[in-house]
Amino acid sequence: MGHAFAKFDAEGWNCKKCGRPLTPCSVNVEYMGSSFFVELPGCQECGFILIDDELALGRMLEVEKLLEDK
Ligand SMILES: [Zn+2]
Repeated sequence: MGHAFAKFDAEGWNCKKCGRPLTPCSVNVEYMGSSFFVELPGCQECGFILIDDELALGRMLEVEKLLEDK
């Protein structure tokens, strides 16, 4: 399986703080004692990372699937 996460389409999102378009950023998250890199839309300017509840939950489910496949 590897760590093939679906690329998040960050187009159309803008940073609320500086108005810059968000670009996909690798974010290290810890879950169930393991850490993973997931791709979330983020702002290059101020480091803001958009963590949408639904999006984050989807990512967590992907991580869970990876753990189960091991
Ligand atoms: Zn910003």
